[in-house]
Amino acid sequence: MFLSVDLPSAGPSDWDPCAGCDMPCRKKCPQNAFGRITYDAGQYGGLTKLPGRDGSYSLLTCDRQMAEDEENEIKTPTEVPDYGTAVSIIKYCRECELNCRIKPS
Ligand code: SF4
Ligand code: SF4
Repeated sequence: MFLSVDLPSAGPSDWDPCAGCDMPCRKKCPQNAFGRITYDAGQYGGLTKLPGRDGSYSLLTCDRQMAEDEENEIKTPTEVPDYGTAVSIIKYCRECELNCRIKPS
């Protein structure tokens, strides 16, 4: 649809998909990377948007899983649909992302 008028912005939405969620994203993490508060707002000049939203996400802990995934690299050529032949495949974790209650439509 095309319109030839300038429409005013409605502004940011107040919708917060994580409010009230039982957080399967965190529970499925094989490394428990969200297991404790790692960052606080004081370290970041009062920022309120912290890793894991509340400062609980540890990149270093997640990195342990990335290293494990790389050790488990599939090194034999494999046919991948819609891609072709991959000479190697590393299946990175993504459990947090894949278990989010909000699915793309
Ligand atoms: S990618 Fe895997 S290891 Fe890293 S935070 Fe997400 S679930 Fe945890
Ligand atoms: S599962 Fe998705 S909606 Fe629920 S807390 Fe995690 S990121 Fe937020």
